Amino acid sequence: MPARTVTVTRRPLTLIERLYVGELLRGILITSKIFWVNLWRHSLHRVGLGKGKPAMATILYPEVKRPLPDRYRTRHRLMKLEDGTERCVACMMCETVCPAYCIEIVAEERTDGYTEKRPRSFVIDLGKCIYCGNCVEVCPCDAIRMDTKILEVSAESRDSMVYRKEDLLNWEELPDGSVVDLSHRASLRKPDTEEAAAK
Ligand code: SF4
Ligand code: SF4
Repeated sequence: MPARTVTVTRRPLTLIERLYVGELLRGILITSKIFWVNLWRHSLHRVGLGKGKPAMATILYPEVKRPLPDRYRTRHRLMKLEDGTERCVACMMCETVCPAYCIEIVAEERTDGYTEKRPRSFVIDLGKCIYCGNCVEVCPCDAIRMDTKILEVSAESRDSMVYRKEDLLNWEELPDGSVVDLSHRASLRKPDTEEAAAK
């Protein structure tokens, strides 16, 4: 089927619109109106009046955090076996499917009888990650999840955005199902690969 071209005619801006003064004033008026209406309603609520008309509430982040949906993708964690070691079998599927090329795995033979292979190092550069969730979807043994509800992944350098195996494994699940990050970025203090240790 031949492509159809639609020409959109745009209305030229008027002189007032081009000066932006009118739009600026309109913005100030809207913001002021919302501010005063909210202030009035919050004041009424404090004395027990006007409860039928809710005022806009602002979430006092970071003290108060917005509840996240169960399937919301947040910072990764590596799942563990009963003995606390990694469940990952170093199949490289997550590394292969990652569109941002931010996973790097070095595999080694596993000799404790659980599986044949394990990751000697497992690195995710969260500075590159786009939180697509492909790594979680593709994993054949549920070894990686993005359910920590940790959104605040900030750092002062690009290197600090690199999470290593010991960070990703260092978590604890509470009885209510929430995940606590215990790593405090341990890998920043202690290299987890022999190559890094040798440097
Ligand atoms: S969420 Fe997407 S971009 Fe991030 S590590 Fe997984 S596959 Fe790569
Ligand atoms: S996390 Fe899953 S997909 Fe990635 S290497 Fe380990 S087992 Fe394979």
